[in-house]
Amino acid sequence: MENNNYKLAAWPAFVHAKCPRCRRGDMFATGMYGFKGQEMHKTCSHCGLTYEREPGYFYVAMFVSYAFNVAEMVTAAIAISVLTGSHNPWLYVTIILAIAVILSPFNFRYSRVMLLYWLTPGLHYHPEMSRDKTN
Ligand SMILES: [Zn+2]
Repeated sequence: MENNNYKLAAWPAFVHAKCPRCRRGDMFATGMYGFKGQEMHKTCSHCGLTYEREPGYFYVAMFVSYAFNVAEMVTAAIAISVLTGSHNPWLYVTIILAIAVILSPFNFRYSRVMLLYWLTPGLHYHPEMSRDKTN
């Protein structure tokens, strides 16, 4: 019988932006909020997966990021309307733009994570790759 004790759960790996194939290596070299911006590792330190599948692959992540932005802006607009009951468009524009700026590092990071986790055909979790390296 196969021993699956080394299997790692998807959500913690997703939240911590771990490699989609082994869920061990970090995708990003830097933190989400920092002065230098976010840098990605080229390959997974654990299983060697190349994150950028082909040149320009992360342009696709912009569409995911766009979807995040729309969802956040709609949520913010509804929240402002419910919480303040205001009809002043500048209140909406100011708060929504501020939220978009504050969340942009988050969108940048998780659009790429989501792309590699769920929107890339042929890229799946390989539990056997979560094991500690023996060599
Ligand atoms: Zn990996």
